[in-house]
Amino acid sequence: MIDTHSHLFAEEFVEDLAAVVERARLAGVAKVFMPNIDDSTLKAMLDVSKAYRGYCYPMLGFHPTSVDAEALPRVREMKKLLSGVHPFIAIGEVGMDLYWDKTYLKEQQKVLDVQIQWALEYRMPLVLHCRDAFPELFQVMEPYRHTELSGVFHSFTGTLEEAEQVLEFSRFALGVNGVVTFKKSTLPQVLAAVPLDRIVLETDSPYLAPVPFRGKRNESSYISKVAEKLSEIYGIDMEQVNRITTRNALKVFKMAE
Ligand SMILES: [Zn+2]
Repeated sequence: MIDTHSHLFAEEFVEDLAAVVERARLAGVAKVFMPNIDDSTLKAMLDVSKAYRGYCYPMLGFHPTSVDAEALPRVREMKKLLSGVHPFIAIGEVGMDLYWDKTYLKEQQKVLDVQIQWALEYRMPLVLHCRDAFPELFQVMEPYRHTELSGVFHSFTGTLEEAEQVLEFSRFALGVNGVVTFKKSTLPQVLAAVPLDRIVLETDSPYLAPVPFRGKRNESSYISKVAEKLSEIYGIDMEQVNRITTRNALKVFKMAE
């Protein structure tokens, strides 16, 4: 399995990172992809990627919840890290988040647009975060429909119509995490109409731990609970789910092969 979305560099893991990584390996997690938050988290993320080279892979991106009126120069400064040899496998995580605050809607759209252009310029996949902002995010994505843009719509929890809208971007996959195991989740019904070859596994750890760990700190080893649920939804064994979703992940994240 590949955990395509884990914040292993978060404060929550500082105390026992080695044990967390060991449990992930034992659980059958072959690689972990780490989405960045903003310029303040780069050092911690790069430290983890150096300590676990070939296992934990970093991304470069500026998260929408970090966007304010002064974000754009900071975002542009980060782009310099893409010139020359660099360890990043994707642009992420980027997107729109209007759940907490709508003040910087326009700034969020601008920052997203700038980073979509990096993804195209450097031929890297895009890892999208979207919360309470589906139409606003797609307003930005629309002009790129017929480009080479590829990526993952991470933590997908939307409706069937929204899933179809994402899948119209033919090089995008839906990232599915522990939310699919939650009792009231409507995701199992939606996914029944989504081909498994458009899905990648993720944890979003330390957040969104699957049942039976719901509410606790999430970690990559729990990803098997997500795979287990998908095997139930698609009526195939877990090994097949793991093989197909791993293949899907490597198809998107080509630099992590
Ligand atoms: Zn995330």
